[in-house]
Amino acid sequence: MIKWIILSALLVSSAAWGQAVPGGVYRLALPDGVQGVEYDGRPALVRDGFALVGIGINTQPGTKTAYVIEAEGRTPHTFEVVAKQYPEQRLTIENKKMVNPDPESLERIRAESARMGAEYQRFSRVPAIRSMIKPVEGITSSQFGFRRVLNGEPRSPHSGLDIAADTGTPVQAAADGVVRITGDFYFNGNTVFIDHGQGLVTMYCHLHEIHVEEGDTLSQGDVLGLVGATGRVTGPHLHWSVSLNGYRVDPVTVLALINAEPAQVKPSS
Ligand SMILES: [Zn+2]
Repeated sequence: MIKWIILSALLVSSAAWGQAVPGGVYRLALPDGVQGVEYDGRPALVRDGFALVGIGINTQPGTKTAYVIEAEGRTPHTFEVVAKQYPEQRLTIENKKMVNPDPESLERIRAESARMGAEYQRFSRVPAIRSMIKPVEGITSSQFGFRRVLNGEPRSPHSGLDIAADTGTPVQAAADGVVRITGDFYFNGNTVFIDHGQGLVTMYCHLHEIHVEEGDTLSQGDVLGLVGATGRVTGPHLHWSVSLNGYRVDPVTVLALINAEPAQVKPSS
């Protein structure tokens, strides 16, 4: 009986490391001498003998291929993405323009989305960060991946973590990095993007005030602004998105993986 329990525990943990979900992260253990890892045509974060590969939330479950790049060439590595059913969340937004924007606003939204999309593709070749913190202490008011229904109409899944806190609460940089975008966006309100290197980018939205400028170099914990209720909100909170190799992924998963000691890394084969 005890043996059976141990065996099943081992099976569960190896499955967890060998699989990923849409909106999750696949951790790939690497041999020495690896120069990089590619997934979906983009480089992935590599650190301490493993890679963290972001999986897009719209990814169809099934067998996927990452490429391990060594001096001799590229070696394909296959892994499984298994389905995940995220809960539905229904919200009522009083400001109708935030649910069905007019044509002029749609133009603005498209331009903003292109600018943000380009930023998420950035890959700065600096050593990967070794630690990450939650930018605000507060209650999680909406988790990553929730299937959003606004005023009865389906919208894109929730691409970040919402942390409820009072207006004016300081928001800290989750890790060392460089400020790449500050601005007022239609849905996201006052927003800051930080590039942490190796394709890891974080975004902080709905800020009451922004206290940094584009090009600033920040240390983990530096205050970048204050919690607010700008953009599309139902109350003051921080919307925090985390992006890996161009995909928004679950911030809670990334926090756990970045802060894991190398000794905790289990082979994914
Ligand atoms: Zn949010």
